[in-house]
Amino acid sequence: MGERVGFIGLGIMGGAMAGNLLKAGFEVCVWNRSPAKMEKLAAAGAGTARDPADLAAGCDVIITCVSDTPDVEEVILGERGVIHGIAAGKLVIDMSTISPMASRRIAAQLAEKGAHMLDAPVSGGSEGAARGTLSIMVGGAADQVERARPLFRAMGKAVVHIGGHGDGQNAKIVNQILVVGNALAMSEALLFAQASGLDLEKTLSAVTQGAAGSWMLSNRGPQVLVRDWRPGFTIDLQQKDLRLALSTGDALGVPLLATSMVFSLYRTLQSRGLGKEGNHALIKALEHLSGVRVEK
Ligand code: NAP
Repeated sequence: MGERVGFIGLGIMGGAMAGNLLKAGFEVCVWNRSPAKMEKLAAAGAGTARDPADLAAGCDVIITCVSDTPDVEEVILGERGVIHGIAAGKLVIDMSTISPMASRRIAAQLAEKGAHMLDAPVSGGSEGAARGTLSIMVGGAADQVERARPLFRAMGKAVVHIGGHGDGQNAKIVNQILVVGNALAMSEALLFAQASGLDLEKTLSAVTQGAAGSWMLSNRGPQVLVRDWRPGFTIDLQQKDLRLALSTGDALGVPLLATSMVFSLYRTLQSRGLGKEGNHALIKALEHLSGVRVEK
């Protein structure tokens, strides 16, 4: 059925996304740096490759979903990277969250070989990846977005073609600025509620449905009240995304006041060894400063 799809990076997100492509009937070949993560998908019918170059040689569309900018550079441009197996007309789709500037540079290098690239970072967390309900923000040429649409449909629900190369990554930064702004507002508000002696559950139910409501408040607010810090999205990954926001904002000359403050607050939590907790544990930084502990 259709094009042969290669998938590089079978972590929390990539493993589930590649699984959904297989379930949708695509012919899928996978590669992961730690080979053990390929076993489950191979058992479900995926082919496996020796390295990213080998995978690119055997596939028409190559998807990457690895951690950070240097990792995408390594799997695409590195010694045994995708670029050494690519040919004119093939398409690379990077679904990691990385620097928009780096994404544009990678697209330009692939274009020298006649290959296409889309940046297509996602939002929706591990739950969205598992259920195939991710939001996908896409940058690149319209004809390649249409080519990729059947694949996106197997992994996500809302697929928006934002603009040219790097604009998917820029939109993901917009998403992350909103996420941490909401997390900061929630933390400060709950701290105030606690200090003023309010019933926290009643307060949360009073404010969640009105103008102050947000996904963060509805989903993570109740978790904060019972001090459940299990992650949907870890502080470490959130911090990586804020670093991208701040460096891109700096390059654009845009001040990001709240975002840079949250970046520093998360840094204090990382230095206390809390980087693997959920991003709603931001409230712990404010508790530390104020001496107020939020608990129902
Ligand atoms: P993860 O579970 O930590 O997986 C990372 C994957 O990248 C692993 O397969 C890892 O290989 C691979 N990798 C990292 N560096 C590599 C390198 N230098 N060379 C080759 N492979 C490398 O992370 P994840 O949660 O799936 O996140 C992947 C991307 O999606 C990130 O950019 C993240 O920001 C983004 N994202 C995550 C979420 C979320 O909720 N988790 C939501 C939206 C977007 P090994 O197995 O060998 O370590």
